[in-house]
Amino acid sequence: MTKIGLEIHCQLTNLQSKLFCSCKANYREFSPNTNICPICVGLPGSLPMLNQKAVEKATMISMALNCKTPEKIAFFRKNYFYPDLPKNFQITQFDAYGPTSIGHDGKITIEGKEIRIRRIQIEEDPGRLIYEGTSEKTQIPLVDYNRAGTPLVEIVTEPDFDNPKQVRVFLNILVDLLENLGVSDPTLEGALRADGNVSVEGGNKIEIKNVASFHDLEKAIHFEITRQQSLVERNIPIISETRQWDDRRKITISARKKEEEQDYRYFLEGDIPWVKLNSDHFKKLREKMPESIASKRERYVEKYGITNQVADVLSSDKYYADLFEQSHDEKNAKEIANIITTDLMGFVDTREKRETSKLTHQHLTELVNSIMDNKITRNSAKTALQEMVSTGKSLIEIISEQDLDNVSDESTISSIINEVLNEEANAVQEVKEKPETVNFLVGKVMKKSKGKADPSMTLNILKKKLGIT
Ligand SMILES: [Zn+2]
Repeated sequence: MTKIGLEIHCQLTNLQSKLFCSCKANYREFSPNTNICPICVGLPGSLPMLNQKAVEKATMISMALNCKTPEKIAFFRKNYFYPDLPKNFQITQFDAYGPTSIGHDGKITIEGKEIRIRRIQIEEDPGRLIYEGTSEKTQIPLVDYNRAGTPLVEIVTEPDFDNPKQVRVFLNILVDLLENLGVSDPTLEGALRADGNVSVEGGNKIEIKNVASFHDLEKAIHFEITRQQSLVERNIPIISETRQWDDRRKITISARKKEEEQDYRYFLEGDIPWVKLNSDHFKKLREKMPESIASKRERYVEKYGITNQVADVLSSDKYYADLFEQSHDEKNAKEIANIITTDLMGFVDTREKRETSKLTHQHLTELVNSIMDNKITRNSAKTALQEMVSTGKSLIEIISEQDLDNVSDESTISSIINEVLNEEANAVQEVKEKPETVNFLVGKVMKKSKGKADPSMTLNILKKKLGIT
């Protein structure tokens, strides 16, 4: 039997400052070693001060994953030596005196399978090593401490996954959940990182670390299951160790003997007092918790009659869900949902495009109401939407500039139809014999009118002229 567990590190990217000092949590915009202070590089005599907002965000994650939360939380020093760790210890949480991490014993159900969450802890991110040089032999490691002390939440699951596909589904759901909570931006490089552990047939556990992406983690777990099964078949013992994913060769390679907890010499961080979480803390956060993805999805289907598939896409992506929430009313909800999940998705499919998009929720409301009032065709609306995304112009401006207004004047449509009927004699004959082929002629009229002819009016006039029903 295969058992897979995960450890996910999530940076609280939406916070202003680091976990224990006032340096910026967004270290990405700084040149190396300029976003640092005596606290985050651990100079003697400096004292950490806990970021209250980080505790709040971590509590929200804990509640969203149905964890139990303790009355008091404590911080510990995890001691190890590595150049990117300036203090030679990491301030983290550890359950040495009963559960004192921000969450424990949670669960989340994915595709009918329950995945238990063992623990959620708040900790600081280390700095980073940057390698300069072209070949492996001439590389020089440089240390950048800008990231040191950035607030992280670590989510540890029980080994409840049976296969890599479940891991992928879980990670996708988790990413959406964290984004919906407004705690982390998963599109930022390094904001979400996952390690896996794999054991087969009750054997020793192998950890897979330093995997660049969730996609690679899935491949690494897949490889590791095959490798371990082959060892078991040949009666070769599996040694408990940490392995790394070699992306070039698509294999895992032995990195080091796995550390045991006692190797880290955990002890209580005496510079940070225990923090009591009173009922006000939870009450306040419960009020602040955004509506869950599942609840949004249900509401979209039940209240507005949006299809399950569209509701799924809309609710799980915070960017779309927020746009929808701001732009719709009872009448136009379904149409707005459709425009977002069909046309808009094609125009803002990357982080960069979303950031540079000039589209506002007012644009969407205006556009959809105009479609519903037959002032503009669905076809022209798509053109207008693209223009709104790139220029931010109003619908009226775009319509007059690009001549997009709906043609619903009977005599104009009628004369376009006459032209088409003259040009398409063969098709006309066919439609008379097989009326179901009439859409071909509707298409020709739409094309001739540059997408502006009102489609239902076109169909009606065509049917009348050809004497079909
Ligand atoms: Zn600092």
